[in-house]
Amino acid sequence: MSEKFDVVVIGAGLGGLSAAGYLAKAGKKVLVLEHHAVPGGYAHEFRRGKYRFEVALHALDGAAPGGWAYPALKELNVLEQVSFKRMDPFYTAHFPKHEINAHADIVQYEAELVKNFPHERKGIHALIADMLETFWQVRRFGAEGEAGIRPPVKQMPVEYPKMLAAMSISWDEYMSQFIQDAELKTVFSTLWGYYGLSPEKLNAAAFIFPWGSYHLSGAYFPQGGSMAISRALEATLKKFGGEIRYRQTVNRIEVRDGRAVAVETEKGLRIEADVIISNANAPDTLLKFIGREHLPAEYVQKVEAGKPSISNLVIYLGLDCDLRAEGWQHHEMFWSDGYDIKADYEASIKGDFSKTGMGITYYDLTDPGCAPEGGSILNILSLADWNSDNQWGTGGNLENYSDNPQYNEIKNAAADMLIDRVEKVIPNLRKHIKYMEVGTPITNWRYSRNTGGAIYGSEQSVDNMYFNRLQAKTPVQNLFLTGAWTFAGGMSAAMMSGRETSRIVLGYLDGHPAVLMTSPQVMLDEQAELSSNQAPAKSVTPQKTDVPLTNYQLPVIKTIGSNLEIDLNAIGKPAVLLFHTQETAEGAAVVNSSLRAQDEYKNCDSLFIANIVDLHSVPKLFRGFAEKAMKESYEKAAASLPPNVDPASMVLILPDWDGSVTKTFGLKDTNKTAAIAVLDPVGNLVGVYQGESVEVNALALLKKV
Ligand SMILES: Cc1cc2nc3c(=O)[nH]c(=O)nc-3n(C[C@H](O)[C@H](O)[C@H](O)COP(=O)(O)OP(=O)(O)OC[C@H]3O[C@@H](n4cnc5c(N)ncnc54)[C@H](O)[C@@H]3O)c2cc1C
Repeated sequence: MSEKFDVVVIGAGLGGLSAAGYLAKAGKKVLVLEHHAVPGGYAHEFRRGKYRFEVALHALDGAAPGGWAYPALKELNVLEQVSFKRMDPFYTAHFPKHEINAHADIVQYEAELVKNFPHERKGIHALIADMLETFWQVRRFGAEGEAGIRPPVKQMPVEYPKMLAAMSISWDEYMSQFIQDAELKTVFSTLWGYYGLSPEKLNAAAFIFPWGSYHLSGAYFPQGGSMAISRALEATLKKFGGEIRYRQTVNRIEVRDGRAVAVETEKGLRIEADVIISNANAPDTLLKFIGREHLPAEYVQKVEAGKPSISNLVIYLGLDCDLRAEGWQHHEMFWSDGYDIKADYEASIKGDFSKTGMGITYYDLTDPGCAPEGGSILNILSLADWNSDNQWGTGGNLENYSDNPQYNEIKNAAADMLIDRVEKVIPNLRKHIKYMEVGTPITNWRYSRNTGGAIYGSEQSVDNMYFNRLQAKTPVQNLFLTGAWTFAGGMSAAMMSGRETSRIVLGYLDGHPAVLMTSPQVMLDEQAELSSNQAPAKSVTPQKTDVPLTNYQLPVIKTIGSNLEIDLNAIGKPAVLLFHTQETAEGAAVVNSSLRAQDEYKNCDSLFIANIVDLHSVPKLFRGFAEKAMKESYEKAAASLPPNVDPASMVLILPDWDGSVTKTFGLKDTNKTAAIAVLDPVGNLVGVYQGESVEVNALALLKKV
């Protein structure tokens, strides 16, 4: 007969351990089944002689109030068991022409950037100010959610505009609003390796949120390494009656009548549970353990589309010399031979370790005691890809891969290359190596079972984060996910994820709504409810003109409220296009009313005025809300018109969903200032203006028509 638990958690990574800890603390009977022999997933250590090697952690963001790690560390009693050292500087970044210290004090860090890039002073200030405001909005979003005072979801675009905007654009797009110097962009993006994608692919919020957590609430290192956190979480789980069984690799989740009823392991253990939480990688959990036959086709497609994030190559060195005595003072030194992050990323994908960026991490400074007296622990890390060199010489055959001579040749050549490069910075390094281990993407897979040796779950790209990422809830009602594959990569994110998933599970088990801090789940639920209540769209009345195109090509756009199709290429009369966002709608309204106040432009036969609303930063999820808000604006404006005026021709609100129309006119930042474009009747552009006194300039341009 199989055993029965309230909750079974697959995997004792930080996500699984945290979810399990919270549920045990809430009185649930919890069992964790772990593939490896120790807890922590990537958050663990190994030993050689008197040397203790940190497997993964370089810096933990925010172990102090305000940081992402803090709530779980506090509530799961980790802070009582482990002490954390705040690092200062957080890191040092070396480039051919610059060496930058990321000081713990953010203002000093900002000053260091300005010292190195004085011509970008204003841009640096504006960028950091905007990032802090964005970070503040996501924190406020979390705190208000937990306090039960968060405004309804439909108001979110107005309440947290920067947070939402950052979630839907790339990091490169975000920073390019403020800084232009290509070298500065690279220097400022030093932490891109912590998120695993180059700036043009990386989701801006995936950079900004942990950046804020690191720079405001500190970059920390736990005494005893990340294993100390894992052991502390394990102790808390046990204290509240939870249980962990090691060397138990789950390979099946039994589904009956749409519910997950039991898990089975490779060793034949079968455990029944009311709820199953998986901290194992999402593709295995859903497609292998559950099976696609139990999942909707759309969901299967989504799981398959979630490309694993990048992996890494790590050289673990136990040295017989004291690096500090030899003048090495850096916990973390990021080393780049150039300023081209894209090329650096490509080199990692190709396995060209002569060109990749490197993280050189010296642990004795932050974790005294990891090496014996007179010794040192140094890790050299480069991002690396699972697929390079015919999957590291194995040709895909992973059985006894570590005995495969081709694998060892490729692994050792890669390690040699990186050590050669580090010897230029730390001379004679090779001579001092007492112990050396090399971890490849396949090593990552072996110990964590992460698909592709992924470090951060699935890729943290623009289109695969937050609302678009796999959520904790799955189509199988009592199966939930936790960790990097659902929330985000990183150790604090994994603990936050465990916290959020445990709340969703408690809500499910105890029949009350979950109170969540950062998870988009609550918004997705509310959105789903809204969509199911929405009235069908009105029919469309086409009103196209036949006048030919002139000097540009614009799309036909359907107006909000009146559902007319407008061909902006040729309106047949002088036209003023008002470009704005929700933030600058009032400014645009002032321009509209002052133009209509002119006798010659009083009615819409003499002048066409349309509002082009740039919505490219509104996440897809919120488009329904944005459309609803614009419809309300239309109805309000229509109601204020005299009875003889047709609102459909006087109030024209055109959504620019991807921002392409705004871009065609060379405009940006319409969230800061509204802008106008004036067109003649056949669609020639008379002029564009953005700045003070828009209405005065609109009139001046109209005189030229
Ligand atoms: C070299 C390296 C350096 C890193 N540096 C940092 C850093 O400096 N700062 C930072 O914040 N993050 C860092 N990270 C990322 C961070 O470690 C991870 O994103 C985070 O720890 C992921 O936690 P998780 O709970 O999602 O899962 P994981 O750590 O992946 O744990 C998953 C667990 O599930 C178990 N499991 C899987 N399949 C099964 C199964 N079928 N049955 C039973 N058990 C199973 C695994 O054995 C594992 O224990 C680094 C990662 C690496 C690899």
